[in-house]
Amino acid sequence: MSTDQAAAAATSTRMIIGGDLAESADGRTFEVVEPHRGSVVATVPQGGAEDVDRAVAAAQAAFDGEWSRLAASDRGRLMLRFAQVVRDHEEELSQLESRQIGKPIGGARWEVGQVAKVLEFYAGATTKIHGSTIPVTRPGFDFTLREPIGVVGLIVPWNFPIMMAAWKVGPALAAGNTAILKPASYSPLTALRLGELALEAGLPAGVLNVVTGPGPVVGGAIAAHPGIGKVAFTGETATGQEIMRAAAANVKKVSLELGGKSPNIVFADADIEAFATTSPYSVFDNCGQDCCARSRIIVERSVHEKVVELFAAATEKVRVGDPSDPATEVGPLVSFRQRERVEAYVRSGREEGAELVTGGVRPTDPALAQGAYLMPAVFDNMAPDMTIAREEIFGPVVGIIPFDTEEEALRLANASPYGLSGSIWSRDIGRALRAAKALKSGVISVNCNNSVHVEAPFGGYKQSGIGRELGMEALELYTEVKNVFVDLG
Ligand code: NAD
Repeated sequence: MSTDQAAAAATSTRMIIGGDLAESADGRTFEVVEPHRGSVVATVPQGGAEDVDRAVAAAQAAFDGEWSRLAASDRGRLMLRFAQVVRDHEEELSQLESRQIGKPIGGARWEVGQVAKVLEFYAGATTKIHGSTIPVTRPGFDFTLREPIGVVGLIVPWNFPIMMAAWKVGPALAAGNTAILKPASYSPLTALRLGELALEAGLPAGVLNVVTGPGPVVGGAIAAHPGIGKVAFTGETATGQEIMRAAAANVKKVSLELGGKSPNIVFADADIEAFATTSPYSVFDNCGQDCCARSRIIVERSVHEKVVELFAAATEKVRVGDPSDPATEVGPLVSFRQRERVEAYVRSGREEGAELVTGGVRPTDPALAQGAYLMPAVFDNMAPDMTIAREEIFGPVVGIIPFDTEEEALRLANASPYGLSGSIWSRDIGRALRAAKALKSGVISVNCNNSVHVEAPFGGYKQSGIGRELGMEALELYTEVKNVFVDLG
């Protein structure tokens, strides 16, 4: 399917509630605008609290009905079929994802490929969710049961829209819950299609509902809803705080994947060439709109100059362009508003005295003039107290900070309210492991730019979140543990 066909197919999108394609209760809609050209790609329902109520009722009915009576292995088989249907539609989903958020098509294909993998992993996990027996002191028999929570709310962001959805839908359904998925307003199209494909795969009506609409309205209603037992959220830290407050109303279980300001620590004994030529990817991929972006390069002073030179040269080679071109590595930002936000950070970096080595300006290529483009920016001599060193920019901007000792490097790396991920580059494995242990972050990569695996836990320390997604750990977010004691005394 071409991008234009994908867009045309998307124009008739509806929410998924109880297995039906649904308009919003009040008939309102909103537009999805592609950031490459600024044109409208689709019109989708602008849901509200009433639509969340309808979705909760449908999800509860599904939970009380067929879904909870299925054997775990049958649930697994259905999820495998869901994964296969997603695989069958990978190209269509990739085109939609690329179009709605301006993600380069290569990145979109990778992202959609992850969706099927996640569903397959959790399809296999359905039969591995179990309790344990415990040798308590009283004479008797003590055991635990792992049970689904019931109806769960899944609120996802726009940077990896369908992958973030899968990270939540996979374990939530594998554990036997039913769900209401709420995509971000920049990126509802792939989530809505995912809901349709779930039905096509044979998931019972109401197991996966998708409600679109403004974050504070639809997301707020999900977070506060008394019929929802758990909310899983990925997005900004400030939004996560609002969700926690709203969720307090019924003491809902909350898991949060929030922002980041991840360090990339480069020791002098590292393979500097390998670092400098591959690491632009670790911060500029997805146009820097990545919670794991290594946006602070903390480099040993003796190799500082060389790193700046090589990293800037590699950055200038990054291909910025039309997301539909398979050669493109960096597309536009998600919106013109987001570009203004990032440009304000570039200004603040300059005003506060960091040295802009390359980028930070709009491209001169006339073919990109209609889009929300910005050339990847590298700042040298960024001081740790500068705004660009402290705040999550969520755009193609990196800052370089030199250090003299290992202890200083770790102190700088940990000097952030965030603690999501980070990379360590060194040929001294002892030092790398010492640093990995000392970093207050949830996901650490040694001698590479990224290490997110479907099979391994992912999540943040400090203000980067609560709980761990992916791997078997994610199932803990979606289950209750019941302890049963049989008195044999
Ligand atoms: P956001 O917080 O603006 O929105 C995320 C989702 O929450 C959207 O669906 C939005 O509509 C909804 N929302 C907004 N306000 C709400 C409210 N008051 N109540 C309930 N829901 C509400 O985030 P974003 O701009 O879509 O995404 C970017 C952020 O996400 C960045 O901070 C990034 O670091 C973070 N992120 C984190 C991870 C991670 O795993 N830690 C992954 C991806 C993105």
